[in-house]
Amino acid sequence: MTRARKKIGTCCICGKKGNLSFEHVPPRSAFNNHPVFVANIKELIGNWDGELRSIKGKVHQLGAGDYTLCEKCNNDTGAWYGNAFADWAYQAFRVLTFARGEPSLYYSFRVFPLRVIKQIVCMFFSSNGPGFRTVHPELVKFVLDREARHLKPSIRIYTYYNLAPVSRQSGVASLLNVERRQGYTFSEIAYLPLGYLMTLDSEVPDKRPIDISFFADYLYDDRKEFSLKLPVLPVYTYFPADYRNRDQVLAEGEENRNRRKRRTN
Ligand SMILES: [Zn+2]
Repeated sequence: MTRARKKIGTCCICGKKGNLSFEHVPPRSAFNNHPVFVANIKELIGNWDGELRSIKGKVHQLGAGDYTLCEKCNNDTGAWYGNAFADWAYQAFRVLTFARGEPSLYYSFRVFPLRVIKQIVCMFFSSNGPGFRTVHPELVKFVLDREARHLKPSIRIYTYYNLAPVSRQSGVASLLNVERRQGYTFSEIAYLPLGYLMTLDSEVPDKRPIDISFFADYLYDDRKEFSLKLPVLPVYTYFPADYRNRDQVLAEGEENRNRRKRRTN
C-alpha cells in the first residue's frame, strides 16, 4: 500500500489551509530516517536493559512525524534550521556513544544556537496542532522570521539525553503535583538522542533537564561552543515528563497492587 504524501489541513505554523506535507519530527536528517540506527544503539551502549527487543516493528518507515505544515513552512524552516539541528543531535549522539550511555561530565557542543532552538520550536508547533499558533503568535514570528531572536521569559526550553528507543510527544499538558501543591503547564518531545520540554508560564515539572532558552539570544549566523552537562533521563512510559525507568515503574506498580490488597483484606 502506498501512502499519500499530502493531506489537506491547517498549517500548524502559519495557519494557512491547504496541502500539508509530511513534517518529520525531529527532522529526517536528525536520525529520523534510519530505523536501523535505533537498533544499533544497543551495540554501542552495552548495559542497556534490553528494552530494544521489539523496536524493529515499532519504527515507522516514514520516520516519526505527521502532516502538520504547509510546504512553504516545511521547506523554509527545514532549509534555515534543519542542518543545524541535525548537527546538534549528532553531537549529542556522539557524546552518548563516547560515554557508553552514561555521560557524567561537561561536553562541548559547537552549534548554531538560534537555528537549533528554532527547529525545536517548530517541532513543538507540529506536536501541538494548529491551535497552538493562535495562542503564541510571537512564536510564529520567531520561527518564520529567521533573524528574529529571544523568547519571552514565560517560555522556557529544556533538554536532556534520551536513550530510549520509544519516542514520546505530548501537546500542552497540565500536571498537578499533589504533594508539592503545584501545577505545571508544558509540552514535551522525546526522541533519540535528546528530549525537550517547553514550559508555558510554569515552573519546570522536573528539575533535571537543562534550560537552553538562551540559545534564542544569538544571531542567526552565530556559531558558538558551549559546555553542557545534560542528564540522561529514562523515557519508558507515555506520560509526559515521567522519567521513571522500567524498574521503578514495575516496582511502583507492584507496591500499588500490594497496597490495594492490604486495603481489601
Ligand atoms: Zn505554513
